[in-house]
Amino acid sequence: MLRSDTPVTLPGPVLALDLGGTHLRTALTRPDGTFTARRKRRTPLGQGASATIDAVVEMLDASRAEARASGGEEPIALGISAPGPLNPRTGTMVDPPNMGPTFRDLPLAPRIAEVLDLPWALERDTQVAVLAERWLGAGRSFDDLVYLTVSTGIGGGVISAGQLLGGPDGVAGELGHLTVDLDGPVCGCGARGHLEVMSSGSGIARQAREAVDSGEDAHGLRDIAARIAPEPLEAVHVAEAAEAGDPVATWIIDRARRAFASAVVSIVDVFNPDRVIVGGGIAIAWGERLLGPAREAVQRTSYRIQRERARIVPAALGDDVGLIGAVPLVLMAHPELAVQADRIARSPEPALNRH
Ligand SMILES: [Zn+2]
Repeated sequence: MLRSDTPVTLPGPVLALDLGGTHLRTALTRPDGTFTARRKRRTPLGQGASATIDAVVEMLDASRAEARASGGEEPIALGISAPGPLNPRTGTMVDPPNMGPTFRDLPLAPRIAEVLDLPWALERDTQVAVLAERWLGAGRSFDDLVYLTVSTGIGGGVISAGQLLGGPDGVAGELGHLTVDLDGPVCGCGARGHLEVMSSGSGIARQAREAVDSGEDAHGLRDIAARIAPEPLEAVHVAEAAEAGDPVATWIIDRARRAFASAVVSIVDVFNPDRVIVGGGIAIAWGERLLGPAREAVQRTSYRIQRERARIVPAALGDDVGLIGAVPLVLMAHPELAVQADRIARSPEPALNRH
């Protein structure tokens, strides 16, 4: 697997696609992690999977054409990050929640690769993220990492002893569906008390809407709901109401933090990671208010050897993580493409992308 001090690399750039529920991103990512010909647009979810595939093919084609026009770098493969669950071996999206029925069992990677005529690699977005963070981000030089994204949902990716943990079906590491409260609310997956329903943006928003609908004593939340109607309450409004002293919002936010901290303690004990890397919109917005309680809980309750090693740190690569991760993803899926790194001229600039 590729890491920052690896002696192997790719002989050319990768066409990178980050297919998200909200945005589509493409670029030509070079073997050093810098990229050109970046494109971004909203995902046309309402028009279904075929329209989305048409859109990404058009964007990838445009990225390739722009790179050709400006210097002739030809991509050698296609690296795709997409929401799970998915099958990385067949390149198929399985049943991604919130994307609609047309994405069910969609052979995403083969359909795109057929048009572009390139070898492909596909992984769940959080798996690509942990590969990228290990290569050029917050997990550099470590062999044992856990990545968590706390956003609309909560996802995870694990590298253990230098290998991406996939299990026999390539779907291991769904850390958002750890149970943190046997009597908690029902998760989007149908089970009760999962981390995702307690601490994700969609889970927090749903708990708040239910509290308002059921007539709980939540004046702050109710005022905001009236102000923004017909738009529904979102996690940001719950945080706003908590800041203003609404007791129900405060309880929801506090429980979200404690649920996250409790899951991180379990993750540290189970995986013995060097780093737990936390990314995603909620993690960025809350910062230390999310990570601080998790660190404190690990120090207080994890096993001694695990807690002395593990550091809970913010992700370093931001929104570009899926584009950067295309390189280690392709190298992992296609070791036959690898060449010795000393045969490739070193880039004079550090391999971080700034915009
Ligand atoms: Zn769940």
